[in-house]
Amino acid sequence: MVAGQQIELLGLEIQELKALVQGAGEPDYRAGQLFEAIYRQRIRSIEEISTLPLQLRSTLAKLAVTVGQPRLEKRYSSSDGTIRYLAAFSDGKKVETVWMPEGDGGEAGDGSEAGEQVLSTKYQVPSTSSELGTGNRATICISSQVGCAVDCRFCLTALLGLQRNLSAGEIVGQVAAVLNDRAVALDHDRINLVFMGQGEPFLNYDNFMKAVRLLVDGLGIAASRMTVSTSGIVPRIYDFGREPVRPKLAISLNASNDTSRRQLMPITRKWDLEQLLAAARAFPLRPRERLTFEYVLLDGVNDSPQAARELVELVRGIRAKVNLIALNPGAGIDFRTPAHERVLDFQQTLVRAGIPTYIRRPRGRDIFAACGQLKLSVA
Ligand code: SAH
Ligand code: SF4
Repeated sequence: MVAGQQIELLGLEIQELKALVQGAGEPDYRAGQLFEAIYRQRIRSIEEISTLPLQLRSTLAKLAVTVGQPRLEKRYSSSDGTIRYLAAFSDGKKVETVWMPEGDGGEAGDGSEAGEQVLSTKYQVPSTSSELGTGNRATICISSQVGCAVDCRFCLTALLGLQRNLSAGEIVGQVAAVLNDRAVALDHDRINLVFMGQGEPFLNYDNFMKAVRLLVDGLGIAASRMTVSTSGIVPRIYDFGREPVRPKLAISLNASNDTSRRQLMPITRKWDLEQLLAAARAFPLRPRERLTFEYVLLDGVNDSPQAARELVELVRGIRAKVNLIALNPGAGIDFRTPAHERVLDFQQTLVRAGIPTYIRRPRGRDIFAACGQLKLSVA
């Protein structure tokens, strides 16, 4: 991206890098070297690119070309190992990026199934971490916008409003910076990515998808290790289904009928549950792939046995699982977290109806890093 006079390399595809080096009178293969350095090696400054002649490094510096990795301005560490980072971009805007190590072998909280708590032993998901042997396992939760315009009533990010979209480079840069900070070697460590931080990825669709391609081709993270969550931007769900390379899809349902969903998620006025579920049913799943439906439980609002039964009817017949998230509270949010019993009852209703249903373990609540708590809190 271009910030003022600056050209930031992160976010550029190989063709764009070729145009850049040609402009500097250099041969095309320099673009490959740049691509390798900024994505695979995750270097932070042009001076570090030892494959480039010194002359070229200084030409690029004169042209105000920088790498463009965000600065990790602050780190908040949770007692459960989660780290919430404030990543600052060149214009001073900041977002949150969250690192969630597994620790106990569960990757609950990341939107993927392994390790999530499940009620009935019949549905217990086998933990494979010990079988995998070496390396760390962790999930990085990435932001796609600064703030969010969708205005869901239970979400702290909504209180920020939408400040701006992130560029593809700023999305990729969060991952590169956090991997560097954690000294991750991607050939040993198993890293999952979830696009569940600040923002609605499908309202910044082109930058989000470009970032996905760069994360796959550049950094070397398989798309099958990524999950994107949407509040239900229906036309983009259809587009996303046609992408040749794409993450897995999670849809934030959060209510079992339109009346309730309209109150909690105003976006329902634009696309109602019928349209959203039609897109979910039409979504071309790959062999063994499942959709995820997220459902934030709000005490006395959407957590009744009746709501659970309605939810069963909504998702029946879709190859999907349900992730239940008990509300992570925050100042300015008018809802309460249901008692654990209530969450278990809700899960029980779904499980009995044959729907794989998991309770997402809250991660980093003590540092405001959990789902829906990302609003740049300083404590
Ligand atoms: N904008 C996207 C992705 C980011 S939100 C989306 O809404 O899907 C990621 C998840 O956190 C969503 O499923 C959302 O419903 C959930 N969430 C939002 N606020 C929450 C809160 N206060 N407590 C628990 N989960 C919340
Ligand atoms: Fe935006 Fe998602 Fe929060 Fe809704 S839940 S306001 S879509 S970040």
